[in-house]
Amino acid sequence: TIQRPRSEALYAEALEHIVGGVNSPSRSFKGVGGGAPVFMKRAEGAYFWDVDDNRYIDYLAAYGPIITGHAHPHITEAIVRAAQNGVLYGTPTELEVQLARMLKDAIPSMDKVRFVNSGTEAVMTTIRVARAYTKRSKIIKFAGCYHGHSDLVLVAAGSGPSTLGIPDSAGVPISIAQEVITVPFNDIPALKQALERFGHETAAVMVEPIVGNFGMVMPHEGYLEQLCALTREAGALVIYDEVISAFRFHYGSSQTFAAFPDQAAIEPDLTALGKIIGGGLPIGAYGGRRSIMEQVAPLGPAYQAGTMAGNPASISAGIACLEVLKSPGIYERMDRLAGQLAGGLKAAADKNGFALTINQIRGSFSAHFCNHPVTNYDEAQNTDGELFGRFFKLMLDQGINLAPSKYEAWFLTIAHTDEDIHATIEAAEHAFSKL
Ligand code: PMP
Repeated sequence: TIQRPRSEALYAEALEHIVGGVNSPSRSFKGVGGGAPVFMKRAEGAYFWDVDDNRYIDYLAAYGPIITGHAHPHITEAIVRAAQNGVLYGTPTELEVQLARMLKDAIPSMDKVRFVNSGTEAVMTTIRVARAYTKRSKIIKFAGCYHGHSDLVLVAAGSGPSTLGIPDSAGVPISIAQEVITVPFNDIPALKQALERFGHETAAVMVEPIVGNFGMVMPHEGYLEQLCALTREAGALVIYDEVISAFRFHYGSSQTFAAFPDQAAIEPDLTALGKIIGGGLPIGAYGGRRSIMEQVAPLGPAYQAGTMAGNPASISAGIACLEVLKSPGIYERMDRLAGQLAGGLKAAADKNGFALTINQIRGSFSAHFCNHPVTNYDEAQNTDGELFGRFFKLMLDQGINLAPSKYEAWFLTIAHTDEDIHATIEAAEHAFSKL
């Protein structure tokens, strides 16, 4: 198995200087039994090399953005060009107009767009805009959906459906948590109950239309249609957080994803974007109906600004990434490879007597150590995290890089090959035989 002395030494040093040794808690190995995370030094295509020169096949894709594979030449070239032309102007550029047009063409519910620097910012601002537009303050969200780290969305469910939230994080005031109602996903009666009680005070219902944060979870047939109808009946806005889902399953968002039977009915009022649309550089964006977006400064009273917003480097990388994603057949290919891999994992688990529930949506899937379906957060929580942690480490020691969390998806990229899939299945067979 792989040795990682240099990663271990760097982690020990990182702990001296960086909180927890990591710049995002999701990178820590706390959830998989502890130990030093792997320090990577180079990435290309589907592979990573760590500081000890071990190679890994990567299924993390940096938590989603790297759908083209690492260091894709077209994106790299765009970033180099941007660097040579100066990385930050503080003025408008033609590039911003071009990416805005590309997003609007792909996501027709967005009449107007604004670029920011992260998914967190995009979501946070959609909430402000919805509040400005409706002149109401409460937000309804869904248990287990992650919408970034701003105060309002770091709130978990209270003791039952349609109770007021309690903060998920120290430092979030109770007064803010009380503006948030959390209900289970895929549960129309629970949403109805929440809207009956709080609908008249609710500015928006915030949802990941296809969930990416407690595994990959599809909405039940008709769920989003009903969610939108009920929300609008209450006079509130529908916000889709498509930071993960946009451009993940096809060239567009879940709003035009053919897998939805009620496609036409599911346009939101506002959409938050991030990740893939920046090609791996920091980005976020939000957009929506003209009358709502015109609440935003300088046109309207809702303030939002950003020194780095729309910077030429991020925008250039985003344009290049979307250009790559327009190539015919690439989503179908990721779908096929993900299907092979998921099938191989399932067979390896079965053979060794482990129950595994796989939720595949095109080129990404989640694998849950349980013998029940996973359609909401309760079901995703009720899976074997200890077993996942041991599986994760057995895979890592064979050069397979997954996210260190039982909730996180496996992301295929356009760089993965049939050989990578076979090697990964072989590693999984070995891992399951050792579990
Ligand atoms: N929304 C969703 C659905 C996300 O998955 C994430 C990040 N994983 C965010 C928002 C926050 O994005 P960022 O990390 O860029 O702030």
